Amino acid sequence: MANHRNSNETKASNEIKALKAILWVYIILCLIIAGLNFGYVSRATPEVAAFISWLWGFYENWVKTSFIVIGSFLTLRIIGASGRTEMRKRNLTGFIVMALVVHIVGPILLDNQELYFFAMPLPWTTIPLQLMNTNTAFYLKYLPVFGFTGITLALAFYLLITIVVLVGTLLWGRRWQCATLCLFNGFASEVFDPVMPLLGTRKKLKARGLKLFAYLRWLFLAGAIGFTIYWVLYLLGLPLSNSETVAKIETYKYLSAELLMAMFFWVAFSGRGYCYYCPLGTVVGLLGKLVGQRITTNQSNCIQCGRCNAACPMAIDLKSSAATGRPVSELRCVGCGHCVDNCPTETLTYSTHFLEIIKNKK
Ligand code: SF4
Ligand code: SF4
Repeated sequence: MANHRNSNETKASNEIKALKAILWVYIILCLIIAGLNFGYVSRATPEVAAFISWLWGFYENWVKTSFIVIGSFLTLRIIGASGRTEMRKRNLTGFIVMALVVHIVGPILLDNQELYFFAMPLPWTTIPLQLMNTNTAFYLKYLPVFGFTGITLALAFYLLITIVVLVGTLLWGRRWQCATLCLFNGFASEVFDPVMPLLGTRKKLKARGLKLFAYLRWLFLAGAIGFTIYWVLYLLGLPLSNSETVAKIETYKYLSAELLMAMFFWVAFSGRGYCYYCPLGTVVGLLGKLVGQRITTNQSNCIQCGRCNAACPMAIDLKSSAATGRPVSELRCVGCGHCVDNCPTETLTYSTHFLEIIKNKK
């Protein structure tokens, strides 16, 4: 018996080590290749520049998808050894399907290795808006890469993703985008959850930290809406100057406050750090509120063990609400369902108006 337990523990610790190693490799490769792709490529010879952009596409598509598949498998084994994984299984299945669509099947069918640019709806990025105007630096840069047909197909793909996210959010709340589809930060926080953060222990935000991130949330949303309005007006033909500067500011914002910060959070804080102030997350969170997204509790079942609070990556206090049977409806809830899976008495349920209707029909 003891031998059996030791061998299980060894296996789990090997799986954790493997998951950690994959995440480190993913981050280090990202820093090196993104550095080459965004920083060095303009000074490189055409042959080297072509190689760097091929390498970036290969890393973003094939390497990332392999890591998502292997990482999901390892995470399920690690979590499954100690508890329920129903919600996690759905999250990870969603991310694997989305990665296959956006990073493998889509790029092959549409002959576009950078289709992932088009997988996050407004207001997260304005790249699709920039590509709709033939005068923008972005259009002129990517016309030789994608071709006119490639740009048109990518924009059609973008429209499709936007509709999918919108409709799904109206039915399933924020969970649809943030715990199932997001290939920017949502996927990493779910696929590598058991080893986040890579250094030190997971930090839980206290009242002051939450307040700071709440300000940041509205600041980033205001910035994202500002960029969107600028590019819509530009598309409408208003004589706006400095479009190249605005596009550059957006790129630097993406590289520093989003990509680098998200990875910094993976290493030192928590997998969901960026989700506290992601502008798309805020928009789908507001939509989620509109469609009744909440975690329902049950006072008579709750034993006040606190495992829900410990499992929540967004520092939401479920335990206090469960003590009185109140539902929890927080804007920052990403709908991951970790609280639901971790409740030993199966007291919590993720719900929206649509899910409620389905439940009542059964
Ligand atoms: S909050 Fe933003 S980054 Fe986080 S999962 Fe949602 S869409 Fe992705
Ligand atoms: S309250 Fe539950 S579903 Fe919402 S973020 Fe926290 S753990 Fe995830």
